[in-house]
Amino acid sequence: MLVNLNDVLLPAAEKGYGVGLFNTVNFEMARGVLQAAQELRAPVIIGTAEILLPYGPLEELSDMILPMAKKADVPVVVHYDHGLTFEKCVEALKLGFSSIMYDCSTDSYEENIRKVKEITKLAHLFGATVEAELGHVGDNEGVSALERPEDYYTDPDMAKDFTDHTGVDALAIAVGTAHGLYKFKPKLDFERITKIKNAIGIPLVLHGGSGLSGTDFQTAIAHGISKINIFTDINIAAASAAAKALADGKTAMTDIIPYQVEAVAEATKAKMELFGCVGRG
Ligand SMILES: [Zn+2]
Repeated sequence: MLVNLNDVLLPAAEKGYGVGLFNTVNFEMARGVLQAAQELRAPVIIGTAEILLPYGPLEELSDMILPMAKKADVPVVVHYDHGLTFEKCVEALKLGFSSIMYDCSTDSYEENIRKVKEITKLAHLFGATVEAELGHVGDNEGVSALERPEDYYTDPDMAKDFTDHTGVDALAIAVGTAHGLYKFKPKLDFERITKIKNAIGIPLVLHGGSGLSGTDFQTAIAHGISKINIFTDINIAAASAAAKALADGKTAMTDIIPYQVEAVAEATKAKMELFGCVGRG
């Protein structure tokens, strides 16, 4: 069934488990993610990000994912991740996404508040939820170039002020992860997660989760993270499955598709088991 972030994250925050957002760009990836959720009876967040739209346009993806989400017998949030413009976020809402992230984390603090407050008011009229980002997660290229990455970490008092002023439903925080594949071992500031969790009353989101160790995930969840974003891991699983199919002598698309769906489902299930959301759907 199609639900919004509050439906899956409020119980997760209360009971201390995590729910994954798995970004997808095509039918095989979406099928793999939803197959995993249904097999494990786990709540799931599925969607795409603005930066991924060249690989799967918003309207085509929503036409495909929304009916699949509605038909599923576990809670499914269809989320638009890292919306960068107001217009694209509104388009996602009109298409029926039940949740959006409006990422204004590179704007000034005041501008971030102003823009997120505006989209939150609108999204709530659609019955949709909003995630924002405070502090900046950034990518691996950027983070490795920073002299003091902790300058970009989320401040707990600011997080309280931000959520009070915007009315946002979930907050992505910067605590030491980066987007994409890691060039060095990430070091997470777990105490900061707890401080932010104690300061604000809404679920916390960890971006840049692909490549963290199982222990990192579980420790982050134990300290108060409720939503974890995954893309790189399932993106690589799908591509490796195609390579394996070819190595196995399969040459047709119809032979390769089942390999990809299965590989994405397996990679998704492994994450769900780590996050502790199995049987919660
Ligand atoms: Zn992200």
